[in-house]
Amino acid sequence: MITPPQTPWTVPADGSFRLEQARCAPPDEAPGGKAARKALKKQVKRLDDLQRRLYADDRHSVLMIFQAMDAAGKDSTIRAVFSGVNPAAFQVTSFKKPSANELDQDFLWRTTRALPQRGRIGVFNRSYYEEVLVVRVHPEYLGAQKLPPDAVPGDLDELWTQRYRSIVEHERHLARNGTVVLKFWLNVSRGEQKRRFLRRLDVPEKNWKFNAGDVAERNHWPAYMAAYEDALRHTSKPWAPWFAIPADDKPLMRLTVARIVVETLESMGLRYPEVGDAERARFDEMRRLLENE
Ligand code: ATP
Ligand code: MG
Repeated sequence: MITPPQTPWTVPADGSFRLEQARCAPPDEAPGGKAARKALKKQVKRLDDLQRRLYADDRHSVLMIFQAMDAAGKDSTIRAVFSGVNPAAFQVTSFKKPSANELDQDFLWRTTRALPQRGRIGVFNRSYYEEVLVVRVHPEYLGAQKLPPDAVPGDLDELWTQRYRSIVEHERHLARNGTVVLKFWLNVSRGEQKRRFLRRLDVPEKNWKFNAGDVAERNHWPAYMAAYEDALRHTSKPWAPWFAIPADDKPLMRLTVARIVVETLESMGLRYPEVGDAERARFDEMRRLLENE
């Protein structure tokens, strides 16, 4: 199991996380946009090298989960941070409203099918955390989940607690079996979200991103924040830490995520598999065969 990087953004595993401690704006000492972009390039290169080792080593997989309010920048962060990785050993899966088929399964099924194999990096753009976020804000969604009556406690708080437990145990199981799990909450402020929505209306190339439903969802902002706080507090664990990333400044957000990913992979001591003496002896024979072809 990994030791999660201790950063100002690491959500403590002792349940002490409070929303007030999480910031949306960049800290004063943060690099400006230009410096952040330059620093990101360096991280992207390091990640390329680390991914090669991860793939060659073929013992661990890496799962990164991204959760955020709309327009926080999940897509662009994924694009920027992983722009240098080999697409053959990388996958992104986006989870939208569950299909009828998915609703006929337990809530960890659809993501489990999308987990990365050993040697690979997998990204979840939204995840089973929606089950304690959007579903908590809209408990009426539970109706479509076809749960037997005794699986839905009268006190819904009990249901969220049970789901946290399922999630924590699931991630622990993954970690024990070689999956490194990192979770990022891109913490955008309500004011910045408004600015970004307005830009989607103003800029023709961004019009397609505009979704009237997202504007309606803003009305539930306090309920979402409460759900995020509770979820992060209960599910940030040493084997699957959460990071609450300030998201109002995009270049800094991307750099912060990239640094955490790189630092984690570096701490894994990934090496190319070594060749033993017996095998090396065969190399000479193979070289001779090839040269005499
Ligand atoms: P973008 O808007 O950048 O394309 P997105 O992730 O917001 O990306 P959308 O299709 O806009 O994609 O939204 C997906 C919606 O599906 C979100 O509102 C999310 O809350 C919802 N969703 C995801 N998982 C679940 C779930 N398990 N139950 C109910 N709703 C879910
Ligand atoms: Mg959306």
